Amino acid sequence: MQLIFMGPPGAGKGTQAQLLAALWKIPHISTGDILRACVVAKTPLGEKAKAYMDAGELVPDGLLMDIVQERMNQPDAKAGWILDGFPRTVPQAAFFDTLLCDVPGGGPTSGKDCALRAVNLDVPDNVLVTRLLSRGRQDDNEQTIRRRLQVYREQTEPLIEFYRDREQLVAVDGDRSMQEVTAQLQQVLSRNS
Ligand code: AMP
Repeated sequence: MQLIFMGPPGAGKGTQAQLLAALWKIPHISTGDILRACVVAKTPLGEKAKAYMDAGELVPDGLLMDIVQERMNQPDAKAGWILDGFPRTVPQAAFFDTLLCDVPGGGPTSGKDCALRAVNLDVPDNVLVTRLLSRGRQDDNEQTIRRRLQVYREQTEPLIEFYRDREQLVAVDGDRSMQEVTAQLQQVLSRNS
């Protein structure tokens, strides 16, 4: 299983990705978690990323590509993975395509033999803002939330078409209970795999 989780901030990507990864015994790879760990550890990458994250902006593509390349080459990523929060821009998606051809177990990146699926969790903006405000993460203040939603619409939403064109898109209504969304994802993905 090779799964990408898309959807706006607060759509439930992290929760669902974590649940399904545990169920399928494959790694849950969250670029946001990796970046937050770098910020806490004050690594050079963390120092560079912090200001972007605090402002609700995307961290530059080049930094993400290095992180993902390194993570995908770890042995536990051979059997499959769930990527949460990457790719988030069209250049990241294009880079990822090339990378998948090179990593062990990557396989074809499009066409009928391709194992990759991109899940979009759809949730209306008013629900997202309420959810994010109740989450209480450092970058979850109202101003940053509004900026992250705007960045999502401008830079990440075009990926829906990118994956739809390649017949890899799985669209799921995320405006339901956590259990209902999990059940729906399991159903749709077992049909698709
Ligand atoms: P997340 O936990 O996925 O909401 O990510 C938190 C923050 O980390 C985002 O608001 C971005 O600043 C940064 N980030 C995470 N993943 C990416 C990515 N693929 N591209 C650029 N920035 C990212």
